[in-house]
Amino acid sequence: MTRLVILGKQGAGKGTQCALLVDHYGIPHISTGDMLRAAVAEGTELGLKAKEVMEAGDLVSDDLILGIVQERLAQPDVDSGFLLDGFPRTDAQAQGLTEMLAPAGIDVAIDIEVPDDVVTQRMLARGRDDDSPEAIKRRLELYQAETAPLLDFYSSRGILLSVDGLGTEKEVQDRIVDAIESRR
Ligand code: AMP
Repeated sequence: MTRLVILGKQGAGKGTQCALLVDHYGIPHISTGDMLRAAVAEGTELGLKAKEVMEAGDLVSDDLILGIVQERLAQPDVDSGFLLDGFPRTDAQAQGLTEMLAPAGIDVAIDIEVPDDVVTQRMLARGRDDDSPEAIKRRLELYQAETAPLLDFYSSRGILLSVDGLGTEKEVQDRIVDAIESRR
């Protein structure tokens, strides 16, 4: 059973590392960002509510996010474990996740550490629709205010792994897998 959460700023390389990790462990990749983008593309009620919030770089409400995650974690394919990407992003989401998984909880929270100037350059380079300079700045502020405190939340539970996110994709991947395996 491998229940993983991946933290880290947008542009820290989470997407790439997630693809490699789910392949390595054979677990489903659960990305709230991907789920929201799919909802926007399909024009569902959730998508309509999320679209403008996402374009501004703001956070979609905890209630909506907890709802979609709860539904996803009720699917049978998560029995062997999962990788949560982009969730939790707030204290309320972290608390909600703990309740959903009780009494088990997650095994490891991975933080990919990359400085702000590097992630900003990477986000500008990838040119996604929601990557305007204003939205990038807003997301970094929100990361600092809302998501960075979760590092303490998981660290105090003894399950935080912080990994240096600078280097090649392979180097970062090896660091993450080594860190996870050293915990088993
Ligand atoms: P991401 O693909 O993880 O970068 O997410 C893209 C956008 O979706 C974010 O900028 C938020 O607007 C929204 N989003 C994704 N995950 C969450 C979450 N856990 N809580 C709130 N908003 C989220």
